[in-house]
Amino acid sequence: MDCPRCSGSLETYELFGREAEGCETCGYVGVAVSHESEPVELESWQEALDRFKKE
Ligand SMILES: [Zn+2]
Repeated sequence: MDCPRCSGSLETYELFGREAEGCETCGYVGVAVSHESEPVELESWQEALDRFKKE
């Protein structure tokens, strides 16, 4: 799957039991929400992704 912003390669991460796709090239973060309808706060996901990548 390619990044919708820059057409780069997306990396798939697992955060809090959900899958998130992120692009290291432009910083795009997409969350695949399947069966939960909670609104996704993109900033929170970005912070979570940053923490995830540092570990
Ligand atoms: Zn990108």
